[in-house]
Formats: sequence, C-alpha cells, structure tokens
Amino acid sequence: MASRTSSPKVDALIIGGGIIGLAIAYYLGKRNFCNVELIERESELTVHASGHNAGGLSGIHVSQRRELWPLIGESQKLYRELSESSGFEFDFARRGTIVPGTANEETEFEETARKYGDENEGIQLRFLNKQELQRKEPYISTDRFSCALYYPLDAQGNSKKLGECLAKSCLQKGMKITTASGVTGFEISRGRVVKVLTSDGRTLTPDVVVVAAGPWSREVSAALGVELPVSPVKGHLISVDTGGLKLVNSFISGSMYYVLQNSASAVVIGGGEDSSGFDTQIDPVRIDEAWADAISMVPKLDVMKESVVSSTACLRPHASDGLPILGKSKRLDNVFFASGHFRNGFGLAPVTGKLISQLIVDGTSEIDLSAFSPDRFLSNS
Ligand SMILES: Cc1cc2nc3c(=O)[nH]c(=O)nc-3n(C[C@H](O)[C@H](O)[C@H](O)COP(=O)(O)OP(=O)(O)OC[C@H]3O[C@@H](n4cnc5c(N)ncnc54)[C@H](O)[C@@H]3O)c2cc1C
Repeated sequence: MASRTSSPKVDALIIGGGIIGLAIAYYLGKRNFCNVELIERESELTVHASGHNAGGLSGIHVSQRRELWPLIGESQKLYRELSESSGFEFDFARRGTIVPGTANEETEFEETARKYGDENEGIQLRFLNKQELQRKEPYISTDRFSCALYYPLDAQGNSKKLGECLAKSCLQKGMKITTASGVTGFEISRGRVVKVLTSDGRTLTPDVVVVAAGPWSREVSAALGVELPVSPVKGHLISVDTGGLKLVNSFISGSMYYVLQNSASAVVIGGGEDSSGFDTQIDPVRIDEAWADAISMVPKLDVMKESVVSSTACLRPHASDGLPILGKSKRLDNVFFASGHFRNGFGLAPVTGKLISQLIVDGTSEIDLSAFSPDRFLSNS
C-alpha cells in the first residue's frame, strides 16, 4: 500500500468546492483567516448545481419559511455589496420576481400585498392587476393569469461566475484550493477531528473542518459519526435561444417551474423536484412537463421548442425538514456544517459564508442559527 504524505497544517479545511464552500472560504479571507484549504473531489470547482442553477437571487417571499427571512434579508444586502463594493462581475441585476395569480387568487394576493406592502418585516412586494401585469410582462398569458405579486428587489446572477470571483479572491489571499481530490475518511479523538484522509494520499491535520459537500453531506457526515438527513433532489434547466427577443423581464415564478431571461437572447425554463438518488440523467417526461407549464405561463415559447441550446439536470441538497443545516454539532468540537440549502443555495451563499466564518473566528454569529442546528436531527438533542 502506498504511504500517505502529510501536508502543511491548515487552520481550516473546507470540504466541497460548490458555491457554499467557496463563500465560506471567501468570508474567512475577509476576516484575514487565510491559512485555509478548500478541497473538491471533482476536477473543477462548481461542477454540480452551483455551476448550473437558474441564478435567482430571491428576496424574502411570503411563501418562504419564516426561519429563513433574516438569512435571506442579509444575503440580499451582501449580494449588492459583492457586486458594487467588491466589484465582482457575475451578471448581478435587479429584475424582480413575478408570482402570477389566477382570478381566484386575486383577493388573497391583494390582502398579502396590503399586509406586507410597506416593507413589513423586510419584505417588499406589490400587487399587480391584470393591466399592470401585462404592462410589465407583455408576453405573459393573460388568459391564465389576471394578477400577480411583484417583488421588485429580487435579483439574478450567474453562480458559476460568482464562484470564479470567490475562488480568485481566495487564491489571492494565499488560500489553497485543491481539486480532483476528495476527503475519504477521518480520525476522531475525544470529540475532535484530528486527521483527515484524502484520495490523493494525504493526511491533513486541520484545526477546524467545514462540511459543505452539498447533497453528499450525508455521506461525509456519516464518516464523522453525525447522521444528517440530506438527500439529493433533482431539478431540470432548459436554455432556449429567443433570437434576440426579450421575452420576459422578471423571474416568472410558477408553482413548480419558472421562466427567466438570463441574457439578451436566452431564456431559461427550470424547476421540478425528483427524489431519484444521485442520478443526473435528463428525464424527458420532466422536460415535457416543464415546457407545457412554461408555455402556459408564456405562450410565445411554443414557437421556440426547436431553439433549445442546452438541457441539464442537477441535484439540490435537501434536508428532511426543508431548512439548511448551519453550525456545529455538540458531538464534535471542531466541525462546522453548511448544507441543505435546497432551492436557495445560490441566494443564501453569502450569508452562509459570513455566518459560518463568524462562528469559526468569533465563536458566535450575528444571526441566531439555532433553528438550523445539525443537532435538531439527533433523537435526544
Ligand atoms: C435546476 C436547479 C435550479 C436552481 N436554481 C437556483 C436558483 O435560482 N437560486 C438559488 O439560490 N439556488 C438555486 N438552486 C439551488 C442551488 O444550486 C444549490 O442549493 C447550491 O448550488 C448548493 O451548493 P453547495 O455548495 O451546497 O452544493 P454543490 O454545488 O453540490 O457542491 C458540493 C460540492 O462538494 C463536493 N464534494 C462532495 N463530497 C466531497 C468529498 N468527500 N470531498 C471533496 N469534495 C466533495 C462535490 O463534488 C460538490 O462539488 C438550483 C438548483 C437546481 C438543481
């Protein structure tokens, strides 16, 4: 058996080169906590969902779990900062979200807008009647929809490009980024990880370990003796060439699928949820379903079915109760978990990075993370 080599000691080892792991590394760097290695088992960073998502940066929506509201509000501020102050170019743009409604939903939507319309609890939203909806989105189906909730502050961006900006900044600060090498095991002594084994034959002895392995966090955590109920949930994305037509202005958010414009001549149709393990094959049934739903929202898409540029399927990390897992388990002294971001991992990446880096550097975070504790899944927590 080949002997293992040891690497120079790092203060923190981050497992996972998706957008969550990269954001944690970046915010550690902002605290001058730079003796860090990020390890990714694929040959490139952000090859999974972090490089292939829809790019929606949602603000607080009334439909979202309340526990998430403080995180979403803070992440929205951080995105503005990353684009404006840090000068990161990741196609950040405020285009708003439209949640379209039928005639039956009009009264409910109006009441919701009245309740939250004045920035109540950080939410900004407006009710649009049929004429206003049509003015904002000329191609939306006014046969199907007669009103909408409009979230004007919602943004869009490119997660792959942001990942590149974060990685560049980390390298400039002297951090180490290792690809094509995965973490394969741990040695634990007295409630602390003392050794980490990697597939490239190294033995690492970091002070702190961060598990940011997306849908694979369950297997990494199991090797640490912590059972985290995180599973992969597949979603699909179809990119369509509109031939230069601006088909939609906002992120049109249907109940299962959505339509957004991510460049002058491309729209993306996306969504769907399948619990089919780690399989990332494209499912033609879901593609048909996505088209049917998208056409019912934006009928002009019907003539663009031949203009598909690409179709992909990727895996979201889903925790059994639907909330992210953020923080330390009482079972291990020097391990932090950051996973289970499900449909909001791009949107929640900056706040996750900032808060996990605070936990590591300060021992506490500015937003209470008790609702997201990994220990909520322990039988006698
Ligand atoms: C179709 C679709 C559309 C989406 N749209 C949006 C959207 O509009 N807005 C939004 O906010 N979110 C969206 N998401 C969700 C978002 O993409 C995810 O929540 C986010 O990418 C999760 O990031 P992550 O870093 O946790 O996981 P990942 O991107 O999966 O990264 C985890 C990384 O860990 C690595 N890894 C695993 N095990 C090991 C190991 N043992 N050693 C080393 N490395 C390891 C993996 O190779 C992987 O690269 C969408 C997702 C899908 C599928």
